[in-house]
Amino acid sequence: MAVETAAFSEQTDIQRDITEMVRQFADEQIIPNAEHYDHEDSFPEPIVEQMKELGLFGVTIPEEYGGMGLDLTTYAMIVEELSRGWISISGVVNTHFIGSYLLMKFGTDEQKDHFLPKMATGEIRAAFSLSEPEVGSDVQGIKATAKKGGDGSWELNGQKMWVTNGLGSAVVFVLMKTDPKADPPYKGMTCFITEKEPWKEVNEGEYAGLTIPPKIKKMGYKGVESTELVYDGYRCPPERVLGGEEAGVGQGFIQMMDALEVGRVNVAARGVGIAQRALELALRYSQERKTFGKPIAQHQAIQFKLADMATKVEAARLLTRKAARMKDAGERSDLEAGMAKLLASETGKECVEECFRIHGGYGYSKEYEIERLYRDAPLLLIGEGTSEIQRMVIGKKLLQRHKI
Ligand SMILES: Cc1cc2nc3c(=O)[nH]c(=O)nc-3n(C[C@H](O)[C@H](O)[C@H](O)COP(=O)(O)OP(=O)(O)OC[C@H]3O[C@@H](n4cnc5c(N)ncnc54)[C@H](O)[C@@H]3O)c2cc1C
Repeated sequence: MAVETAAFSEQTDIQRDITEMVRQFADEQIIPNAEHYDHEDSFPEPIVEQMKELGLFGVTIPEEYGGMGLDLTTYAMIVEELSRGWISISGVVNTHFIGSYLLMKFGTDEQKDHFLPKMATGEIRAAFSLSEPEVGSDVQGIKATAKKGGDGSWELNGQKMWVTNGLGSAVVFVLMKTDPKADPPYKGMTCFITEKEPWKEVNEGEYAGLTIPPKIKKMGYKGVESTELVYDGYRCPPERVLGGEEAGVGQGFIQMMDALEVGRVNVAARGVGIAQRALELALRYSQERKTFGKPIAQHQAIQFKLADMATKVEAARLLTRKAARMKDAGERSDLEAGMAKLLASETGKECVEECFRIHGGYGYSKEYEIERLYRDAPLLLIGEGTSEIQRMVIGKKLLQRHKI
């Protein structure tokens, strides 16, 4: 006689309820409107306002600060659904999520009390800034500096690049060199919580010295702005060193790399979301379009494409959730997060390309959603560390774990 076992479920009741709610939101509010905002490259304000009402800016922020207090696994499920709608929408929350993670893990009580309640409601949004015009992968090579002045404040100078939410954010977690002579260089880096006026290109008064040049024109990932940030004599009070001066000076690189580990799970979830959407579009179109007297879905070559896409989506989803669950359980997940990011972002690109091929000439038309996905998917191969960098992380960690 068979032993009775519980039905297989990957999600708890709360996770199922919340992902269903976000999926419905994506179906009703994001997907029908994405084309408009993508075409205009304008900020999707009404969608973002609704996300505030749904509490999506405070998913992982503890309840005592007004958030939902949910774990990374549930957050990854939400991000997957948002990205299935449009990856730019998940882009609006992702650097915000990384900022709240930095505060929750390393912030002083005063920093948490000051920022987290306003971040939980989405009243203010956060950006995260490592990259510079000459530096992306090699973070230890940053050039922007912060120097302590006689009045106790820090003076920030230098140019940052590719800052998602660079204009609309009210707070930027930015990595600066505070000891240019440090050897190795990462020991001389500090993370500053720099405040600014949202949507203002030239900041004045207490935020003077921070200007935001016009947004970078991009192939895809439109709607959410990517900007440079120019710090030129910006004054940052000592209490805005992440974790406080005593604990935080010289710790910025380690803090930011820790945040990137959760950031990679985050990007992996976005890869799963866009791949899932490509699969759905391919399943629909291949049953509608006929060639040689039958729906193209009845040609074995197309079925094989669908089979490979569905298998890859499922594998990427499972690996992403595994990495998230390990982090939630307090285990080291750098290897798994790297693997999840690598597999899911490549899966996103591959599924989008296969869906594009299945659409034939129509895939090249702006009338079809796949055209937008085709421009959006490559970003995931680059952001939070390229595929080459993920392979370097995975290889290094493997050798550390299996040293003979
Ligand atoms: C739309 C968008 C949004 C972004 N948002 C943010 C943000 O919010 N905050 C932020 O800080 N950054 C952001 N970035 C920057 C992003 O993180 C970097 O672009 C990325 O890390 C790659 O850096 P890079 O562009 O300087 O490429 P490079 O580091 O110059 O790399 C160029 C190529 O060389 C390869 N390469 C580099 N080093 C090695 C090596 N050792 N071995 C083998 N190959 C190597 C890379 O994989 C890549 O193929 C964003 C980028 C984009 C496009």
